[in-house]
Amino acid sequence: MSIHAVQTGGQDRVTKRQSWDNWAGNLHSSPIEIFRPTTEDEIVALVQQAANRGLRIKAFGAKHSFSGIAISDDYILDLTSYDQIVEVDSVNGYVTVQSGKKLSHLSEELFTYGFAMEDMGDIAYQSIAGAISTGTHGTGATFGCIPTQVHSMRIITADGSVLNCSKDENQDIFHSARVSLGALGILSTITLKCETAFNLHAVEKPIALDEVMTNLDDFVDSNEHFEFFWQPNMQNAFTKQNNRTTRPEEPLTDWENFKNDVLIGDFIANNLVKVDRIAPPLSRFIRRNLPVTYREDYVDRSYRVFTSERKVKFVEMEYFIPRAAAKDAMERYRTFLQQTGIVPSMSIEMRFTAADDIPLSMSTDRETCSFAIHLRTHERYQQYFEGFETLMREFDGRPHWGKMHFQTKDTLMHLYPQWEQFQVVRKKLDPDGRFTNAYLNRVLGQIE
Ligand SMILES: Cc1cc2nc3c(=O)[nH]c(=O)nc-3n(C[C@H](O)[C@H](O)[C@H](O)COP(=O)(O)OP(=O)(O)OC[C@H]3O[C@@H](n4cnc5c(N)ncnc54)[C@H](O)[C@@H]3O)c2cc1C
Repeated sequence: MSIHAVQTGGQDRVTKRQSWDNWAGNLHSSPIEIFRPTTEDEIVALVQQAANRGLRIKAFGAKHSFSGIAISDDYILDLTSYDQIVEVDSVNGYVTVQSGKKLSHLSEELFTYGFAMEDMGDIAYQSIAGAISTGTHGTGATFGCIPTQVHSMRIITADGSVLNCSKDENQDIFHSARVSLGALGILSTITLKCETAFNLHAVEKPIALDEVMTNLDDFVDSNEHFEFFWQPNMQNAFTKQNNRTTRPEEPLTDWENFKNDVLIGDFIANNLVKVDRIAPPLSRFIRRNLPVTYREDYVDRSYRVFTSERKVKFVEMEYFIPRAAAKDAMERYRTFLQQTGIVPSMSIEMRFTAADDIPLSMSTDRETCSFAIHLRTHERYQQYFEGFETLMREFDGRPHWGKMHFQTKDTLMHLYPQWEQFQVVRKKLDPDGRFTNAYLNRVLGQIE
């Protein structure tokens, strides 16, 4: 831990810096102080304190972003204890929750009230505010990203004032704040429009990648939620087809869940490259047999089907391209691997999302295919990720704000038709850059 002098009202106070790492372990910072508020008043007081001391302040939810979006060298708010359900409107399905609530806890509690989120991403470790701030998404051509589920919010702005926003109140702010990158203020409470709790019928099975790509539109349109993973060098993709059902739960056993999510999906599939090097015959056996034996058909609560455990630590880049470009992009990706000789250790993932109208949403204005690549933390990613990014830019790809990418304001602004609208709100709510950091300065520019 390093020692730093902090300017406080003309006097130097010597403070021990704290240590902050993200989940993947690829980012580190040494903030002056990490606070763990439990009430809105405490958050307001901390924002005001930061302002009085001329410091920057950022909140984090679960540190599950791979980009530097949540980093601060000044004040950090750890909102993991600001996590209560505040109000449930059973008639309209509006549920108001404190912003640090983890999706795993939220979805379990929602079910006890008879509600559910209409769609979720692959995991439920994130906080609701973190998921909203980066435009986190699941899959389903008729489903928007998680921020489209937001009905209203309370935001603490740079001078410590608290404002409500929704489609009816402070509409311009609401419009931009649903995917805010943490740049507009601290989200205090969030009201979600929930669905009546539902079960999903899940069919998870291997299908030849060529067949998936040939019939991609059929798979995407005939399922509410379709996605697939593909480990380069394998013939088959792992497909997931999830659809609402009125059938009662027939869940997988704990062992089956562990075997599918952790042992096969996470550990074996993502370590095959190592096995290639150490024991080629074993690798050939796994590649031949793994994809044909993995097949599941079950019914479970929505959130248990949408999300999985992730034990292997990795880093990720994810690009959002027009849905119509998905097949071309896959072709180009396979050629790119052949040409460079890169054999990634981890699989790719393709998902689909409906268009929305949120200024900085990766799906703004267009139906989207998201194409994600992964490598284990500490593997060399530069050549692979840069090459992939170059490829995705040919398709006007937009990077996930919470994942790795190398773009800047200059290369990003033309991809978002309402870019200026967001900047106007940012300047209005945070004129002095209280909530900015190096990452935001890079991707959004300095506040002018
Ligand atoms: C294993 C894994 C799986 C993932 N799967 C998916 C997936 O399926 N789909 C997908 O789209 N993404 C996925 N992601 C990315 C992840 O959803 C996003 O990075 C998300 O933002 C992480 O949420 P968090 O709570 O950890 O937020 P953090 O990383 O802690 O913060 C993200 C941003 O939100 C801001 N923030 C947090 N709380 C507040 C608040 N109260 N007020 C204002 N700003 C706030 C932070 O300052 C920062 O800017 C995955 C990441 C990992 C590590």
